[in-house]
Amino acid sequence: MAEMPGIDREKCDGCGLCVIVCHCGALTMVDKSINIIETVECDWCTDCEAVCATGAISCPFEISIE
Ligand code: SF4
Ligand code: SF4
Repeated sequence: MAEMPGIDREKCDGCGLCVIVCHCGALTMVDKSINIIETVECDWCTDCEAVCATGAISCPFEISIE
């Protein structure tokens, strides 16, 4: 099962920026509500987390290069 970013809908203001920056189509917005589609296409780029001004998206993973 692909691990996906988590969304706190209480914090989301429906700006839609995360949908725009996601390059794999994992994020969709329906009636100002964000949905995440589980997909292996998500490469954990964390762009959605970075662009979210309200802190509603959190990526529960870290990429460490050793
Ligand atoms: S960027 Fe953040 S506030 Fe904007 S739609 Fe996405 S989750 Fe909601
Ligand atoms: S981490 Fe990157 S690929 Fe995955 S949902 Fe967020 S923006 Fe899309």
